[in-house]
Amino acid sequence: MSDTFRAVVVDKVDDQHTAGLRDLTLGDLPEHDVLVDVEYSTLNYKDGLAITGAAPICRSVPMVCGIDLAGTVAESASDSFSPGDRVLVNGYGLSESHWGGYSQRARMKSEWLVPVPDAFTNRQAMAIGTAGYTAMLCVMALQDHNVTPESGDVVVTGAAGGVGSVAVALLARAGYRVIASTGREAEHDYLSSLGAADFIARDTLSAKPRPIGRENWAGAVDVVGSSTLANLIAQTRYGGCVAACGLAGGMDLPSSVYPFILRSVVLAGVDSVMAPMEQRQEAWRRLAAELPVDLLSEMTSVEPMSRIEELATSILAGQTRGRVVVDVNA
Ligand code: NDP
Repeated sequence: MSDTFRAVVVDKVDDQHTAGLRDLTLGDLPEHDVLVDVEYSTLNYKDGLAITGAAPICRSVPMVCGIDLAGTVAESASDSFSPGDRVLVNGYGLSESHWGGYSQRARMKSEWLVPVPDAFTNRQAMAIGTAGYTAMLCVMALQDHNVTPESGDVVVTGAAGGVGSVAVALLARAGYRVIASTGREAEHDYLSSLGAADFIARDTLSAKPRPIGRENWAGAVDVVGSSTLANLIAQTRYGGCVAACGLAGGMDLPSSVYPFILRSVVLAGVDSVMAPMEQRQEAWRRLAAELPVDLLSEMTSVEPMSRIEELATSILAGQTRGRVVVDVNA
C-alpha cells in the first residue's frame, strides 16, 4: 500500500467546523505501537455528531473521525499482535481524543485491540460495530441483574436504529419476548424479522412521565434517554432492570426515586468507550456465539467513506435503519 492514504478529518478553519476527505501520510499518524490497514469502520450516532459538528465530540483538531475500525495488522512493535492478525477497536476515545477509524491506515495502541472473532469477517465485525457491541453490553447488564426470559417482557427503544436492532435480535434469540419501541411504523416488518413480538409507539413512551406507573416490563434497553427513560423506569416491574446507554431523545432524566425505593428497580448505566478489556472480550465472545449472521446481514448496509457527510446527516435525522458499515477504501 502506498504511503499516502485517505481519511475523514474534522478541522477548524477560521474558527468554523469543517469535515471532509484528506490525503495523509504515515508520518502524520500518531506514534502508537500497531499499524493497521483498515478495511471497515461504521456509522454511529456519535459519528454523526462529530462529522456535522452538532456536538463537540472531537476534543482536538485536526481529528480523524470514526469511533471504531476493523482491519489487518501491518506492523507491530507489540508482542501481543503480529502482521496479518485481524483486529478491531471500539471506543477508547477514537474520534474524541485519538485519531479514529475513518482512515485507510491507522496507528493504534495494542491495548485497545480485540482480535476479530473467527466467526466473523472484518466486515461482519463492523456490521456489529460499536452499536452492536454496546447492545451486547446492555443484554449482559440485564442478565447480571437477573432479568431472564421468564421474568417477563423486555422493551427496546430506538429499535430500528443500530443499538436497538442488535438488541432486539440478541434478546429474541435468547428467548425473551421483545417489545420494540419505534417511531417508524414502516419498520415493523423489519423488526419482526429480527424477532420483535410486539410494538409500542415512540410517542407513547416519550409522553410526560409519571413518578411511577403500571408494571409493564421486566427489563429495558434504552437508547433514547429523557422522558422515555423516565417512563421505562416508572413502568418496570419489581426488581427489574433498565440498561441505559443513549441520549437520542435528550440527555435529561425527569424521573423520581419511587421506582427505586418502592420497587427495587435497577438503573444500569452502560458505557462502551472505556469498558474494561475483559468485558469487551466477553461481549465479542458472546456476539460470536449468539448473534445469527443471517440477521446481521438483514440489518446491515455498506456505504463508501466518500459519502460520510450525507450519512452523518441522515443518522442524526433518525433516518438510518439498522447498521451502516463504512468501507474506508471506497
Ligand atoms: P441510531 O441513530 O442508529 O439509532 C437511534 C434510534 O433512536 C433511531 O433509529 C430512532 O429509532 C430513535 N430516535 C432517534 N431520534 C429520536 C428522538 N428524538 N426521540 C426518540 N427516539 C429517537 O443510533 P445508535 O443506535 O448508533 O445509537 C443510539 C444511542 O446510543 C445514541 O444516543 C448513541 O450516542 C448511544 N450510544 C451509546 C453508547 C455507549 O457507549 N453508551 C455506544 C453506542 C451508542 P426508531 O426510528 O426506531 O424510533
